Amino acid sequence: DTKRLNRINEYIWEILKTEPMRVPARIFASTDLIQDMDDKVFEQISNVAALPGIVKAALAMPDAHWGYGFPIGGVAAFDPDDGGIISVGGVGYDISCGVRTLLTGLTIEEIRPHIETLIDSLFEHIPAGVGSEGKIKLSPEKLDEVLEGGAVWAVEKGYGTKEDLNHIEERGRLDGADPSCVSDTAKKRQYRQIGTLGSGNHYLEIQEVETIFDRKAAEVFGISEGDVVISIHCGSRALGHQIGTDYIQILGAASKKYNIPIKERELVCAPIKSPEGERYYKAMACGVNCALANRQVLTHLVREVFENILPNAEIKILYDVSHNTCKIEEHEVGGELKRLYVHRKGATRAFGPGRKELAEPFRKIGQPVIIGGTMGTYSYILVGTEQGEALAWGSACHGAGRSMSRRQALKRWKGKKIISTLAHRGILVRAASYRGAAEEAPEAYKDVTRVVDATHYAGLARKVARVKPLAVVKG
Ligand code: 5GP
Ligand code: MN
Ligand code: MN
Repeated sequence: DTKRLNRINEYIWEILKTEPMRVPARIFASTDLIQDMDDKVFEQISNVAALPGIVKAALAMPDAHWGYGFPIGGVAAFDPDDGGIISVGGVGYDISCGVRTLLTGLTIEEIRPHIETLIDSLFEHIPAGVGSEGKIKLSPEKLDEVLEGGAVWAVEKGYGTKEDLNHIEERGRLDGADPSCVSDTAKKRQYRQIGTLGSGNHYLEIQEVETIFDRKAAEVFGISEGDVVISIHCGSRALGHQIGTDYIQILGAASKKYNIPIKERELVCAPIKSPEGERYYKAMACGVNCALANRQVLTHLVREVFENILPNAEIKILYDVSHNTCKIEEHEVGGELKRLYVHRKGATRAFGPGRKELAEPFRKIGQPVIIGGTMGTYSYILVGTEQGEALAWGSACHGAGRSMSRRQALKRWKGKKIISTLAHRGILVRAASYRGAAEEAPEAYKDVTRVVDATHYAGLARKVARVKPLAVVKG
């Protein structure tokens, strides 16, 4: 299958368009990453290229690996005026899963003596683990306000400031959310989960800015070497997952109704301009707002912990990115601006300077692109570029990407051992379960530096800083 791969340049590969593909597929990766890439990625991205109304090419980011329907690390834009579709598999089950990085205004010297107290209190104060419940309990009507309001709702309720909203994609709230398109089952599963981290791959990490690659962008972002930042990775919890489960059924029926041939169950989709497609978008937007509210409440909890332990800290949001979304965006296609439905599944939006979606100061320089590594390796902060918009609708990788399934990782490692090995290296891990720690073993992921370098050299986004983990709360 890889024989069909054409090399466009050192970091871009193409799968030629053959029946039933409507467009070619493109993979952004170094030779090393391509060689190690799961063959399933090539098959899945070719399936995506066959979906109705897809524009230009189906894309896979350097961290791509197998996913349900679309690969994780898959990006595809669809034209609503050309029969374009919307798909659950193109968004992912954890709608708007994403990473938010907080600035603390403190340096490593100031934090170091308090690190253990800090991580213990964060672990105690922030509900984590499967089915964990938060302090906020909402009636169904109140939950609807969250689904419509996102982080704007949270700020109105006192969890944060207006300024926070300028540092969140969509300024904290995605338009078009309609809670009547979300099932009662989904809402019932969520009403006690706002302000919780979730399990497994979700984390809160205290990090040291170790290296700056781009001084100018770093200055705009407000980071320099030796600063301590905090990254929160989580999503829309049970609500997002239930929306996915509900709409797999609905879009499954729609695929038949509209005669869309489907290669894999999770590729089911509906035309954007159909009642089913419209309802999925409105429900998905609710999932996005749920995640944005969730990360905002978690930020409030972090601020509470710091107020107790390091009251001179000033916690500000650097940025909040989502990496499981479908968004309506304008992009240039053949010299013309087109309104497209851009699916990013395990891919981060990476808009360059000038985009109207960005608030200042990012409109001048491009948005921060936050990339998780693992709890035992570096993570990265990049900046979006204009070139990335031309190449991939303004998208970049979202992490290192798994190189091994959770099940394989569980067989190979013991969570307890992973945690003690990291402790020897000076990284404190507080985990809700040993199972989660084993599934997330650093060796179960690709080399994040390779992935980020490929992203940088392919031109998708530019490296700004590298951060290293000091202490981690694992869901
Ligand atoms: P996903 O959303 O696909 O589950 O994960 C996003 C990315 O987060 C993964 O590809 C991985 O590189 C990264 N990641 C997973 N666990 C951790 C962690 O504990 N700390 C950091 N910094 N990154 C992690
Ligand atoms: Mn997630
Ligand atoms: Mn995620």
